[in-house]
Amino acid sequence: MKELQHLDPSVFWGLLLFLFVFGSCVFSFLNVVIYRVPRHLGFVKGRSCCPACGARLRFEDLVPIVSWVALKGRCRYCKAPISFRDTAVELLGGVLACLCFLRYGFSMRAMVAFLFLAVGTAISLVDLDTLEIPDGFLAAVLVLSALSVPAFPEITISQRAAGFFIVSVPMLLLTLKIPGAFGGGDIKYTAAAGLLLGWKNSLLAVFLAIVSGGIYGAFLLVFRKGGRKDRFAFGPFLCAGMAAALLWGEAFFEWYMGVMGL
Ligand SMILES: [Zn+2]
Repeated sequence: MKELQHLDPSVFWGLLLFLFVFGSCVFSFLNVVIYRVPRHLGFVKGRSCCPACGARLRFEDLVPIVSWVALKGRCRYCKAPISFRDTAVELLGGVLACLCFLRYGFSMRAMVAFLFLAVGTAISLVDLDTLEIPDGFLAAVLVLSALSVPAFPEITISQRAAGFFIVSVPMLLLTLKIPGAFGGGDIKYTAAAGLLLGWKNSLLAVFLAIVSGGIYGAFLLVFRKGGRKDRFAFGPFLCAGMAAALLWGEAFFEWYMGVMGL
């Protein structure tokens, strides 16, 4: 963003710090959603407890990142280790909020992109935990797709409509031929996100997902003896591909057209 370069450095770093804290707080809440939604627990009521000893956690135990560092990764009450994953997710939230700001400035674009990445993170982690993508998250993607119409006006309605089908239909056909090729959640997710991304970025996203997922799958085959046909969660690869396509797809296609002399 050009206007960011005109900011006073102290204002710029202050803003980044604020956004990092904001992002990590949003993703801290996301951790609660990721834990509770697959267990069908409400996530508005009810207080957080230590999963090992059940002690109710106090406010100072719940400050993103800071609590984990202050408690040296252990429960204040029973000293059971606290999983680092939650803290890693909070760090990721901070980084993603800064990234969206650096890419799009203070704008609705940045907000829609950040929320899309947040929902994508929740989908990835629930998919890792349960190999399923709950429909509630897909509804959130649809809402963000609607918000992206004014936020990303350069993606036309027909490009979005094509985005809905361009990846999801081949995935569906492949799954009809080879049962279990893709999960139903993955297919619905690419359709819903295709409305937000448009067809070009959808293709780029799925290309990146298949390449990275393929490398990971080959790695599993080589290093896990016997070549067990484990299902692995494809959601995280899809999300990472979509995130890269959303943030840098436009720049990538411009560069590509330039290289091809188009
Ligand atoms: Zn405890």
